[in-house]
Formats: sequence, C-alpha cells, structure tokens
Amino acid sequence: MKTIGAHVSAAGGVDQAVIRATEIGANAFALFTKNQRQWKAKPLEPATIEAFKRACAEHGFGPAQILPHDSYLINLGHPEPEGLAKSRAAFVDECQRCEQLGLELLNFHPGSHLNRISESDCLARIAESINEAHAATRSVVAVIENTAGQGSNLGFRFEHLAEIIEQVDDKSRVGACIDTCHAFAAGYDLRSEAGATAMLDAFENIVGLRYLRGMHLNDAKSEFASRVDRHHSLGQGNIGTAAFTALMRDPRTDDIPLILETIEPEIWAQEIQWLRDQQPVA
Ligand SMILES: [Zn+2]
Ligand SMILES: [Zn+2]
Repeated sequence: MKTIGAHVSAAGGVDQAVIRATEIGANAFALFTKNQRQWKAKPLEPATIEAFKRACAEHGFGPAQILPHDSYLINLGHPEPEGLAKSRAAFVDECQRCEQLGLELLNFHPGSHLNRISESDCLARIAESINEAHAATRSVVAVIENTAGQGSNLGFRFEHLAEIIEQVDDKSRVGACIDTCHAFAAGYDLRSEAGATAMLDAFENIVGLRYLRGMHLNDAKSEFASRVDRHHSLGQGNIGTAAFTALMRDPRTDDIPLILETIEPEIWAQEIQWLRDQQPVA
C-alpha cells in the first residue's frame, strides 16, 4: 500500500500534527518534534506524549507511517570538535524524543564538511555520530536523506549514503530517504518516467532497497544538476508530473512514508489525492 502525506506543522503540540495530517487525507506524515531552528527544547510533557499516541491510534497512524525530521542546525559531520559534540548531543536528544513518542524513524540531512575536511573524513564522522546515537538510545532508526549538494552538504550522491551505511555498526538501525527535488538538483534526471525508474534502480544497486525507509516527494524550482535546494508543488517545477506517476506505480515505494514538502500547504490535500490517482487500478 502507498502511504502518502506531508510534513505538517506541530504548532500547538505534536498531537496537533496528527490532526493536520488527517485533515488533508494523509495516511502518512512528517513533523518536527521540536522547533527546528533552535538547539534547545524543553522536554516533552507526559501529557503531550499521551495526546500524540492517542491521536495516532485514533486516526490509524503507526510508526512506519511517520517520518520525524531533526533540526536543521545539526551537522553530524562537523569538522570541529565543539560543533560536532553539540550536534551529536542534539541528535541524541532528537532520537530520545522520537522514542518517547513511540516513533521508529528519524530523518536527517547527513552533514557538511564546511571545506575543512575531506568528503570521506566527513562521511566517516557522520557514521560515527550514528554509532554513538545508537549506543545512547534503544531503537530509533537513523534515516539519512539525500541532499541537493548545496554548499558543502554531503549526501548528494547515493554513493555517499552507501559509504555512511557501510561504516554503521548496527545496520538494522540505519536507513535512507530519497528526496526527489534534491536528487534532481544533484543530477538524477527525473524529467521522465524512465528517469524516475532509473533513479530507484541506482538507489537499489548502490545503497540497497532494504534501506529505503521513506521518500520526500517534491518538484523542483531549481534547475537540473544545479545543486540548489528549492522545492516546488508537484507538476509546477522542472521535474514535472511523469516522475511522480512512475513512483506511484513502482512497488518499491510501497509501505514507506511518501511525504510532500511542497511549498503550498493549501493544496496538499489535492496533491495527495492526485498521487493516489496515479496508482494503477487493482
Ligand atoms: Zn526533504
Ligand atoms: Zn530540500
């Protein structure tokens, strides 16, 4: 089954994200469990945790349909000891918040070398950060997102994801998320159905399908291979509709959260319905 939704706001409490997902007809969603632009957050209140779990149960969302995203400030490949330590501590806190909420996955951008260390050093640091987070937590799966490769961000080639995963000790607690806008901006040509299929083939060959734990479905304002991360609504950007049709018809995207991070929340309900309509009639 396809589980489709959007990255909804958690304003007013994480339980409100569940309500917002329901309102747009989603059967998957993403959220931030804290303010994504701040390092510190107050711990989740037991009442909030209860309200979140109750709302998920009531509306039929299990942990496999929910893809929380960490703070944008975190850089698990930071070249400097202080920045690295701060990022690792914040990441562990994010993992613990997920576990408190009964969530299995935590989606994050791998990290940036800031032009001070090599790509392979940075990827090794990211893997070590994941190993440390695993040691400090019980069950959460670290889901590495491919990036557009803006600035010194790594993760713009599937080979980067594979190189990180290779150095993670507990392979059962690491995965990947493919963002279509990022992939397109990084040089995976998604302007046709065949292009989208070829991208999944590349992921399967380079990373391995068992690691695919989610996708972000975004069209791109940015140009092909521009290394610029600018999302657009489905069909309105430089990717167009064909790739999304192909992804909805590909069984490799079954049973993982397929999340819109498109720029017009007002049309998320329509975008979700359109995606559902692309599936072949059973
Ligand atoms: Zn994304
Ligand atoms: Zn993005």
